[in-house]
Amino acid sequence: MNVLVVNCGSSTVKYQLFHMEEENGDNVIAKGVVERIGISGTNLEYQAGDRNIVREKEIPDHRVALEWIVDILTDPDIGVLEDVSQIDAIGHRVVHGGERFTDSVMLNKEVLDVVRECAELAPLHNPPNILGIEACRDLVPGVPQVAVFDTAYHGTLPEYAYIYPIPYEYYQKYRIRRYGFHGTSHKYVAGRAATMMGKTLGDLKLVTCHMGSGVSFAAIKNGNSIDTSMGFTPLEGLMMGTRCGDIDPAIILYIMEKEGLRTHDMDRILNKKSGVLGVSGISSDTRDIEDAAPSKHRARLTLELIAYRAKKYIGAYHAVLGGLDGVVLTAGIGENSSYIRKSIFDGLEHFGVTIDDEKNTVRRREGFISTDDSRLKVMVIPTNEELMIAPDTYRLVTQRE
Ligand code: AMP
Repeated sequence: MNVLVVNCGSSTVKYQLFHMEEENGDNVIAKGVVERIGISGTNLEYQAGDRNIVREKEIPDHRVALEWIVDILTDPDIGVLEDVSQIDAIGHRVVHGGERFTDSVMLNKEVLDVVRECAELAPLHNPPNILGIEACRDLVPGVPQVAVFDTAYHGTLPEYAYIYPIPYEYYQKYRIRRYGFHGTSHKYVAGRAATMMGKTLGDLKLVTCHMGSGVSFAAIKNGNSIDTSMGFTPLEGLMMGTRCGDIDPAIILYIMEKEGLRTHDMDRILNKKSGVLGVSGISSDTRDIEDAAPSKHRARLTLELIAYRAKKYIGAYHAVLGGLDGVVLTAGIGENSSYIRKSIFDGLEHFGVTIDDEKNTVRRREGFISTDDSRLKVMVIPTNEELMIAPDTYRLVTQRE
């Protein structure tokens, strides 16, 4: 079975084509990304075997991006499929599944309607996911499509971890609760961590740290997410590229009143102007901040905030897990920044962790960065959300047949 996995972000489409004989097969036959959709200078990448193609082309929207992907997969010279009919199933990453979906589902009109309803809860994320689903339905008609939700993995959070201490009626009326995000990433790296540690996931207490432009941590006990830092929206929790994470909610009211701002303006400040960009005043990219740190106080301060806030979450999750066997670092910062990784664990020696500076040079590949005798294991594991979506798609489509 050929399974195409599609991950539509606000200005990107990542894709991977898997040939699967069984649920856990992971034979990737082609993959790539379309970046800067709707922004000038769209970048298209396609990788199949030893072919690595990079093109620049104007791509105005997700539909045109997916057309390009289907065209290149079936290209007579460089494609890997003879015809579009060789795509047997399509799996989509969908960010918000609300309370309704705690597992992946086959897409149909009813499911798509619920995903549309959930767009209100994830206005930046669900709309591009929906565009991807609709475009695939038109481009590859009749092919079964599956939705794999970012929120689903956190469906195991206990009630006391997902209810907010505000009037309960807002949960009843508007479903305001912690949902959590990056679920496929947390699930994937937790599984890999168990394999690396030579243990069963069911016996482990882990903190998984997804640190990219969006940042979320999860406390994983016996393979289940029992708490996670992002909440009702992806704004809560740790400090991110441009998102503030945890702040005193009264600050929002205070700034709005002082500056005479409307909700839309305040939303922009919290989501687009805060975090690493807001504190540093330089950039949302931690590479720029690390470069500027030797000469700029606010760059150094930004790095201190990132590490301090990460430490606080690891400490809190250590407490709720009742111990800790391993910490996983993943996504752009987690996979690459030796400096930030080291500074997070500086001062956590009493947790039984020592970082090995030599091992901590690892980039974009799996490896332990703690010393061999460190009781608490720290691992770098590149995330692979697409690899989690393919097995669910295979399972649901074969069950249906
Ligand atoms: P992601 O959202 O997972 O693609 O991560 C993107 C972010 O990772 C960038 O905005 C940077 O902040 C960070 N990043 C990527 N590479 C590095 C690096 N070599 N050093 C520090 N931060 C990095």
